[in-house]
Order: sequence, then structure tokens, then C-alpha cells
Amino acid sequence: MAYQALTEESVVGYVKGRPALENIFPPDCNVAVKEVGDGNVNLVFIVENRDDAQHSVVLKQALPYLRVAGESWPLTRERMRFETQALLTYNELAPGLAPKVYDHDNEMSLVVMEHLRDFEIMRKPLVARKRFPRFIDHISTFMARTLFFTSDLYLTRVEIKALQEKYVHAQLNKIQEDFVFTNPYMESPENTWNPEIDAEVKAVRKNRELKLALVEMKEAYITHKQALIHSDLHTGSVMLNQERTCVIDPEFAFFGPIGFDVGAMLENLILNFLSHYAHTLDRKERSSYQQYLLELVRGVWNEFAGKFDGLWVEHNCGDLVQSAYWQFPGGDKAFAEYRRRYILGLLQDTAGCGGAKMLRRMMGIVSVWDMTSIKDLKERAIAERPAIRIGSRWLLERRQITGIDDLIGIVEEETREVEAS
Ligand code: ADP
Ligand code: MG
Repeated sequence: MAYQALTEESVVGYVKGRPALENIFPPDCNVAVKEVGDGNVNLVFIVENRDDAQHSVVLKQALPYLRVAGESWPLTRERMRFETQALLTYNELAPGLAPKVYDHDNEMSLVVMEHLRDFEIMRKPLVARKRFPRFIDHISTFMARTLFFTSDLYLTRVEIKALQEKYVHAQLNKIQEDFVFTNPYMESPENTWNPEIDAEVKAVRKNRELKLALVEMKEAYITHKQALIHSDLHTGSVMLNQERTCVIDPEFAFFGPIGFDVGAMLENLILNFLSHYAHTLDRKERSSYQQYLLELVRGVWNEFAGKFDGLWVEHNCGDLVQSAYWQFPGGDKAFAEYRRRYILGLLQDTAGCGGAKMLRRMMGIVSVWDMTSIKDLKERAIAERPAIRIGSRWLLERRQITGIDDLIGIVEEETREVEAS
């Protein structure tokens, strides 16, 4: 079928015409359709078989432009191919931790996937101070498995090259490259920021050491093809409930530095932490929930690092360091030392990429709902100022970081005066 953007009406005929969906939508069933996309980028339809409440799917279709900006901002529809490929890879490597793919259609730039009913986009319940006892285990497993099994530590060079060829997308990469690492820190028309933090924003834009650190992280993002990263793994790309956690929306997936994904996750937890200075006025309640968020940061890193190392020991089949290479007296210890150094490098990249992403949310094209939902700009500034200090220090001190407690320590130091006021 030649490409056409679907509507709530035309989705019905489309799903009924797809052999892969025959069991979910038999020809004579009643179908209800609702478009629910948050409106940023793509069309997202929930499609339900009215005769059988168990049968519903989500159909996501790319438009040939960026939805928020309108047709004046063309954006390749091919991004849906990257999203589909990545979701299929997640289904294989981390089953249950991403929506199941039922059908896809490259010509129509769409994917049909499991409807995550009774799930919430993570940002919202975090603002409402909900707790998710299984989140650390789930997200660390997701990251460790999808990143390890697509890296040079597991795959041969030939396999890696073949996989990388499926994820070549200059236009999408450039969006992240510029909007995360460059434009927010110079004059650029799309930048927005809270006028209350104008002085802090301007100070970042002329801070020599910070600008050097940012461009170094950009270079790493462009050149360091470590694994198939999601590349937009923030708390708006996680849907969860008490039992399950699913990662969605990997349209930017490509081969890049692992720390970019881990950093996005940790940095978003910290921004949520800071947003509670406005969202949660009761001090005791706030402090208790903020401690919980720091436990998430610690737990996500520690479990991710432990699982990644465990997978490496068990499946050291990549061309990078074959097991035979370590067969010499003391070789076991040398292998352990190489793993330690590699994983420490991931943490330092996590700090650098997480720091850059924290800063860009304060002064670039898009902020995060955790912050923008604080309507009083003075109150919002109370949450945003420490984000600028923390992001800056994560970036500048990244090479001295030796453990996750160093990153958490920076958060504690930079929020001490907020606590006291
Ligand atoms: P975009 O790329 O346009 O940002 P997302 O993949 O983030 O699209 O999806 C937009 C919204 O649609 C999500 O925030 C979520 O509310 C809803 N959504 C997306 N996928 C699913 C799904 N599999 N099940 C239920 N809701 C979903
Ligand atoms: Mg998206």
C-alpha cells in the first residue's frame, strides 16, 4: 500500500486487511479507534476489537514531518523502520521489557504493537510520588541485555557491521547531535528557557571549560559506536505499572555510546528529584521521596553494571577480546581488570552524557514535563538552578568519577542550600 497518513476512520479498514492481525481483528468484528499521540512527533492510535475486550493494539505511524512543528519541518518517515527494527531486537533480547511487535509495514511507515493497557508513562507517577518496586531490576536488565548483546563484546565484527548498516540515519542523528550537544549552549532561535534563570543560562553559554566538555561529549556521541543504543531513553520513553516495565519509542536508535542511554535514565530521575521542590511542599514527604529517587539512581547503575559484567563473563564471544587472548598466567585477573576499566568508562560517559542532557533540558528546544508542569516561574527556577549546577559538575568532573556515589554526592552537595532555604 502506497504511503498515506491514516485517520481514525481509515485505520479500521487497514487493520482488517492485514493477515498478521487476522486473529485480533476478524473481518466481521467491530473496531473502535482513538488517536492518543501526545502530539509531538507521530500518530499513535489505540485500536480495539469491541467484541473482545482483550483484543487491542497500538498502531504507531510516522508522518513525513515533525508533528509539533507542522509540515514546515520535514522529517524522514524512515524513522519508523529504525523504531520497528529496534523493537524487534528488544523483543528478542529483552522479552517482556518492550511492547510485542505484531505487524509492521515499511511502506506505510507504521508498526502495530502490544497495547500497554494499565501502564503509565513514568514521568507522571514519579511526580505523584508513586513507587515501583520492580523498576530497578527491569530497566537494568533491559539496558544490560540490549546493550551487551549488540556490542563488540558479544558480536563479531562482521555481525556488528551488518547491524550498523540497518541504522544509518544522518537526519535523525543530527537532531540529537545539535539539540543535545550544541544549540542549547549558543544563540539559536528554537531555544527556550525560564527567564528567572537567564543569568545562569548565559553563564553556561560562555563557560569555556563546559563548552570544551560538551563538544568532547558530542564527539563521543558521533564517533563511539559501542552498541545499539535507544538514544532517547528518558522517563517519557518508559511505560510501567507495579508488575511490568516497558521501553517504548526507539525511533532514534543507532550505534552510539552506551553511557548516552544510562545517562538519560539517571539524569531524568535527578530532574524529577529536583522538580519535587515545587511539587511536594511537605518537607518530610519530599525528603523521603527524593531519597527513594536517589536509591533508584544507585540501584539502576549498580544492577546495570553487575548484569552487564555477568553477561560479559558468560558470553565473551565478540571479536574485541576473545577468551584465548587472556590465556596466560594472571590472564583471568587481566580480563577482570579490562572489564572494570570498560565499565568505569561507561559510568564516566554516563556522567558526561547525563550532564549534557540535564543542561539541554534547561535551555534547549524541549524541557521535561516534570519541570514545565511547575507553573510559577520562580518556583520552577528553584528546581532548575541546581539542575544547571549538577549537570555542569557531572560534565566537568566526569573523568574523576569512580563510582555512582560520586554522582549522587554531587546531587546532595548542590541541593544542600535548597534544603536549607
Ligand atoms: P512519539 O514518538 O510521537 O513521541 P511515543 O512512542 O512516545 O510517540 O508515544 C506517544 C504516546 O502514546 C505515549 O506517551 C503513550 O502515552 C502512548 N503509547 C505509545 N505506545 C504505546 C503502547 N504500546 N501502549 C499504550 N500506549 C502507548
Ligand atoms: Mg518519539
